[in-house]
Amino acid sequence: MVAPFAARVVIEALEAAGFEAWIVGGWVRDALRGESGHDIDVTSNALWQESARVLSNAGYEVLLSGIAHGTITAIVADEPIEVTTYRVEGTYSDHRHPDEVRFVQDVREDLVRRDLTFNAMAWHPTRGLLDPFGGAQDLAAGIVRVVGEPQKRFEEDALRIIRAVRFSLRLGFVVEPRTQRALEVCAPSLAEVASERLGKELDAIVRMGKAGCGLMDQPEVMCAAIPELAPSRGFDQRSVYHVYDVYEHIAHVCNAVEAFTAGLAPAELRWAALLHDVAKPMTYSEDADGHGHFFDHPRQGAIVAREVMRRLAIPHELVDAACVLIRWHDERMPATEPAIRRMLARLYAACPGREVPLAFELFDLRRADAVSKCASAASWASELDKYARLLRAEVARGPVFATRHLAVSGADVMRTCGVAPGPAVGMQLEMLLRAVMAGELPNDRELLVAWLAGSL
Ligand code: ATP
Ligand code: MG
Repeated sequence: MVAPFAARVVIEALEAAGFEAWIVGGWVRDALRGESGHDIDVTSNALWQESARVLSNAGYEVLLSGIAHGTITAIVADEPIEVTTYRVEGTYSDHRHPDEVRFVQDVREDLVRRDLTFNAMAWHPTRGLLDPFGGAQDLAAGIVRVVGEPQKRFEEDALRIIRAVRFSLRLGFVVEPRTQRALEVCAPSLAEVASERLGKELDAIVRMGKAGCGLMDQPEVMCAAIPELAPSRGFDQRSVYHVYDVYEHIAHVCNAVEAFTAGLAPAELRWAALLHDVAKPMTYSEDADGHGHFFDHPRQGAIVAREVMRRLAIPHELVDAACVLIRWHDERMPATEPAIRRMLARLYAACPGREVPLAFELFDLRRADAVSKCASAASWASELDKYARLLRAEVARGPVFATRHLAVSGADVMRTCGVAPGPAVGMQLEMLLRAVMAGELPNDRELLVAWLAGSL
């Protein structure tokens, strides 16, 4: 392992001034795995004032980026290096914030407060690896293990629960049995984590395309993180079209979305897959034959999904896009041009300017939905190819779903029909748009002008 130049410079400067310093955290973990892109955190027994003095005397720009927790950032060769004082955390009476942060002299004390064995290693350009909890071995064996007694560590800070799950999903690691038991026992305390911190972790899981695996591997944790998903667990759909319960179906859809997009699904499609059927349990009804129905679940689902994502502080544009996909994921539509245009208009109304990519995403969601029901429903996925073909043709022609897409303007209406500016102009354009969208008239200027002239 070779420490990046900027990190070596910072460590050398601090140690030349009589302090001790190590690289810690994510860089060490990822470098041991052969990945070198991680940002670099340095930890030192120097207090932040001392680090700031030493590094600015050495000629580097120093930002007081987090002095409340003992952190400064030095900019070396354009690279930011965070330097934090060795510290331990006091008790956590609220499961979120340590009651006190205390600076210490021994790096091992700093490492013992860290969450997972492979996140609790330090590395030094000449002293090498300091790995008191067997992090390198766990990394090689593919094991997620908490430092210390798992239940106690999760009780101290419940965010560690979802972090452990995130790392197991990101790295494809199994969770060591004691840590796993503690995850399940402590999952309910996720309710006490600040929802935006929880949202960051969940968003990371969703954006990795790992929400489906998360649902399958860690149902207690995922349902505690998003309580709205809990009722779908084991919820029998009583439908010949579904071989899975609602929760399993959701997990399959999340995975199928990845399969259909080669693992490159946009974030809103991933979020939509995770929450598309969230309202199924609450909209369930049974007919006289005992078949289950979920009338209105897409509309209700979009409402619930918006609440969930807002609470988790997911960015607005992402929420709008995911919710419009959820809203229309189950809409019956014929494979015709007018139907494609109506759909573009709906997507445009929710997310102006993003209607075309969202339409393709909607087809991916519907394909993923179809292959996650039953064998006979899966053939529907190939039907969706017709929609995608029609959409591509519409995009190639220039889609027509708003009056501004018409080949004639308000000025043409006024001139041809001899009407004055006012609502009548808009009404004429709306009539034209309806006719063009329905395929009754081509979007051709001459023909439209003729139609206007004849319509008087
Ligand atoms: P990522 O690539 O996800 O950023 P990271 O390891 O850098 O991975 P951070 O969240 O940036 O993760 O945290 C940096 C380090 O701080 C971690 O490696 C871990 O040692 C420690 N850490 C972070 N959050 C906690 C926590 N809640 N409890 C204990 N230690 C933590
Ligand atoms: Mg980090």
